[in-house]
Amino acid sequence: MNMPLSTASAERADLLSQREPASLQEAPAAMPDHSHEIALPTPAALRRQLPADEFLSNQIAAHRDEVRNILRGHDPRILMVVGPCSVHDEVAALEYGEKLKALSDSVADRFLIVMRAYLEKPRTTIGWKGLLYDPERTGNGDLNAGLVRSRRLLLNLAVMGLPLATEALSPLAMDYMGDLISWTAIGARTTESQVHRELASGLSMPVGFKNATNGSVVVAGDAMRSAAHPHHYMGISATGGPVMITTRGNRDTHLVLRGGRGITNYDADSIASAVKSLVDAGLPTAVMVDCSHDNACKQAERQLDIAREVIAQKRAGNQHIRGLMLESFLEPGRQDDSKELLYGCSITDPCLGWSQTEGLIRSL
Ligand code: PEP
Ligand code: MN
Repeated sequence: MNMPLSTASAERADLLSQREPASLQEAPAAMPDHSHEIALPTPAALRRQLPADEFLSNQIAAHRDEVRNILRGHDPRILMVVGPCSVHDEVAALEYGEKLKALSDSVADRFLIVMRAYLEKPRTTIGWKGLLYDPERTGNGDLNAGLVRSRRLLLNLAVMGLPLATEALSPLAMDYMGDLISWTAIGARTTESQVHRELASGLSMPVGFKNATNGSVVVAGDAMRSAAHPHHYMGISATGGPVMITTRGNRDTHLVLRGGRGITNYDADSIASAVKSLVDAGLPTAVMVDCSHDNACKQAERQLDIAREVIAQKRAGNQHIRGLMLESFLEPGRQDDSKELLYGCSITDPCLGWSQTEGLIRSL
């Protein structure tokens, strides 16, 4: 016999109200069997250990404004995000930073150069995930050391006066280092991720969304729309407790064209069609071209021609092109990781060498 609906609903409501938090407290703590935990410092503790002083914080705020002004079209210069695919050797990264800073000062009338200081690497399957996760590259991981070494490196680079760029992969990593970063990428593998869109919506620096690995630009446009909105999500506070985070929304986001599935998208037609899809979605049309990755078909030297071609499009009147990305390190190419590494050469994606990079940027 069917009960009257109102009684059934009341019984269901009653059932829900019986699930009180007190009964959960009595339950045994869940024992993870596929993982184990090692405590990490809280973001506040790491920032206390390795603080950014007021001068540095003001410098970073000013750099973020410079990036913003270029992307918004208030500054005619070109934003250049330049540096290694990944940092595996802090000494080489500092040497690179010194060279890049000297170069950036001498081309500051045309370019704002931001150094790639990428500490987390998204992998298509498996592989070394970056200095933050495994600074000694043993395969065992050491986030405690990785956090300290990553933040120390960023501080040392920032003190040189360089604006810094990174890819935000773990949403928690930004709590430890985000205050030192002036431009952030959301990578091709995570542009479709709600978690990364939520993160971007609360970041206080401009964010570039890569087109998806299959070349889709629409996914990056969706990400920009999502990130412009306020979100609420789960995170940790500076002191390490679980919190609900409510974000304001970030309007300083833009598309980064990186090619996809072996098809390039830096030519005039591809850029025009990407811009059309941004216009149709009512989004800002600032575009950065990543000269590496699928645009270079993983052949670092191709970046030279791509950069020249894109700057030619800009000089011919394309107002939407606001930035370029180059993968560059001290030595050209790449190497597999081993005990006998060539100093200053990438162990992830192939890079332009320093002299190629300097020659290119001076010639643009
Ligand atoms: C990168 O910038 O090194 C990178 C991994 O880029 P993408 O997300 O475009 O593959
Ligand atoms: Mn790369």
